[in-house]
Amino acid sequence: MEATVPILGMTLAGFEAAARGRGMVPPDVRAMYRRFHRTGEVPPGGFPSWVDDGRRPVHAVHVDGATAKFTMALHDGLETESVVIPMRHRDGSVTRTLCVSSQVGCAMGCRFCETAQMGLMRSLSAAEIVAQLHAARFAVEDPVAGATGFEIKNIVFMGMGEPMDNLDAVVGAIRTMTDRNAYGIAPVHVTVSTVGRTEGIRRYGDLLREPGFHRLNLAVSLNAPNDRIRSEIMPINRAEPIALLMAALLEFPKRPNAAICMEYVLIPGVNDAPEHCDEVCALLRPLRCSLNVIPYNPRRGSPWPAPEEERVREFVDRAIANGQFCKRRGTKGRSAMAACGQLGNAAIRNRRWVGVGAPEPAKEIVEIRVADA
Ligand code: SF4
Repeated sequence: MEATVPILGMTLAGFEAAARGRGMVPPDVRAMYRRFHRTGEVPPGGFPSWVDDGRRPVHAVHVDGATAKFTMALHDGLETESVVIPMRHRDGSVTRTLCVSSQVGCAMGCRFCETAQMGLMRSLSAAEIVAQLHAARFAVEDPVAGATGFEIKNIVFMGMGEPMDNLDAVVGAIRTMTDRNAYGIAPVHVTVSTVGRTEGIRRYGDLLREPGFHRLNLAVSLNAPNDRIRSEIMPINRAEPIALLMAALLEFPKRPNAAICMEYVLIPGVNDAPEHCDEVCALLRPLRCSLNVIPYNPRRGSPWPAPEEERVREFVDRAIANGQFCKRRGTKGRSAMAACGQLGNAAIRNRRWVGVGAPEPAKEIVEIRVADA
């Protein structure tokens, strides 16, 4: 049987090359490729038999007033999870960020993370990663307007999985997502987040050295001011301690004025003391970075509660007083287990499927309001 070509995982150049050997002429192939990625339409009569369109059933959406979470069934019965986060700006406009998964489950075992409870089931292909964007655009209802076909401005690789452990597929997906003939997402609006896999950080840096990709962003889950605390909550730190991570980050090819985003999940009684704040600011001083403080979202069976708002504010204020550029990140989606570190939970198993060709409206969406930015 003829091997199929996954259109969702290919740039136009790659798709044209595959088509050429099958006797198709470039204008036809280009039109087919652009229409599918830009509008979700398949050619009248369907794709040629050598094309795998990669669309999968998308499950109804979980909503908590600001965030839409959806799952997509894979060919082997596993599922991806993704989150659409709308953001209203001061001028009243709304943009949307899509958080994608790069693996089903995760092997990293971070103690504060819901996904870690699943373990790693498998890595996703580039097409399966891009399929999440295609589904968000054409199969999931707009959390604001109540229709499909909304634009996604930002892509963050912060869903299930460690992107650096599946970097070839992640890079392939980024190439398709940013292809002007496909989704045309600006590289400056793409962020890959890692637990701190130093070899992956170096290889991702190589992509930034390619023409057109120098504005891609890097985020790192730091979450602790020193090796003792970090090794307790993030097993990866025992293999790749903070000194190795910092060395890789200092070499990372940032564009002028760009900052690496250092994520710090604030966990009561673990890493939230004033001296922890001082220590992490001193650690980050040599690095041009933004410290993003994220109030902990308790996973199921969590030994820790969410932090009190006042403690979060104190931590952020102290970091700023220390001269560290610091932001507090909101926790949209907490009640629907769609917030940071909460993907991969059992609560989403109670579901209804939405068709892939002409999707029905996802009736579980009862109300979506847009949270203030
Ligand atoms: S926080 Fe990220 S790297 Fe750590 S277990 Fe969860 S998904 Fe994996």
